[in-house]
Amino acid sequence: MSDSETIPVAAPLLKGNELKYVTDAIKEGWISSKGQYITRFEEEFAKFCGVKYSCSCNNGTTALHLAVCALGIGLGDEVIVPALTYIATANVVRYVEATPVFVDVDEDTWNINAKKIEEKITSHTKAIMVVHIYGIPSNMEEILALAKKYNLKVIEDCAEAVGAEYKNQKVGSIGDIGCFSFFGNKVITTGEGGMCVTNDLKLHEKMSILKNQGMSPTRRYWHEEIGFNYRMTNLQAAIGLAQLEMIDEFLKKREQDEEEYRKLLENNASVSFSPRPLNAKCIYWMHCLLSEKRDEIIKLLDENKIETRPFFNVLNSMPPYKTSEKFPIAEKLSRIGINLPSSVKLSKENIKFICALINTIK
Ligand SMILES: *Cc1c(COP(=O)(O)O)cnc(C)c1O
Repeated sequence: MSDSETIPVAAPLLKGNELKYVTDAIKEGWISSKGQYITRFEEEFAKFCGVKYSCSCNNGTTALHLAVCALGIGLGDEVIVPALTYIATANVVRYVEATPVFVDVDEDTWNINAKKIEEKITSHTKAIMVVHIYGIPSNMEEILALAKKYNLKVIEDCAEAVGAEYKNQKVGSIGDIGCFSFFGNKVITTGEGGMCVTNDLKLHEKMSILKNQGMSPTRRYWHEEIGFNYRMTNLQAAIGLAQLEMIDEFLKKREQDEEEYRKLLENNASVSFSPRPLNAKCIYWMHCLLSEKRDEIIKLLDENKIETRPFFNVLNSMPPYKTSEKFPIAEKLSRIGINLPSSVKLSKENIKFICALINTIK
């Protein structure tokens, strides 16, 4: 990456066995949704997460949709969702004609404020959708206690947090179902892809059937229910397996880059970084910065061919979910949060250049 090139906010690094495995799949003719790479990727991913079962699918949104369906959530049900997340988290609740009920996030995790969940629980509440935003684990202990008390299911949206841990347990393995995305900008990618992980055999079987048009696993072309075609292809899984082989290296590089950003901006009083909750191990899907001068930073970096992105918009500020409810913490983060270049391809020089520019803004 030379100085004259754009520094992207995210970019995949396909330097391992991707080409070899994809070539192999092509040579064998297994390019559709059957083949050894699907099984291998699923098995290795389950191992990585420390769960019994994993069910691949075609993106992170469909992973969440499969989870919501498998848990039997539907018309008239309510699902608790953090006010600050990517829109897919809330959309899948609507896909099944249930209602997402938003709860503000907290400063300590940027995730759903467990202390504010209880007041939103009604007789219709069926589940809590937890999001480990930007790789920061949610406060699972309090959330699981509430789920137990009110007999609610817990779905973990781990799209941004593969490899993160809460009390030495990998995210995704803590609630009833964990959902992952392998979109091109995620920590590991298959281009488009997703995965549902669980320790519950019944839920696993249900999701596996639903993603395959509801077809009976023992009787071909016999459909007990209406399902979807949400299958991952062997080509995607071939890339995914190769990416997974490098995940520890990727996570380590991201951690080093985060430290570098923090070090070079430590004397800058107008910026702060993401929280690192006790008992949790964060991963750095995105390097995050808070600054009242957010828009100035974005503009200056953009003028220097450095891509950034603002934080997500608060869900109820957008047309599909518009309400007048106030979520002060989510609103503040959304207003001042910025994602800095976060690709594993970043060089130390890139980070130095970026931080030097940020430090010129007074
Ligand atoms: C990326 C993402 C998703 C959706 O994943 P896709 O693979 O893009 O469908 C869902 N939730 C969160 C929090 C995400 O960041």
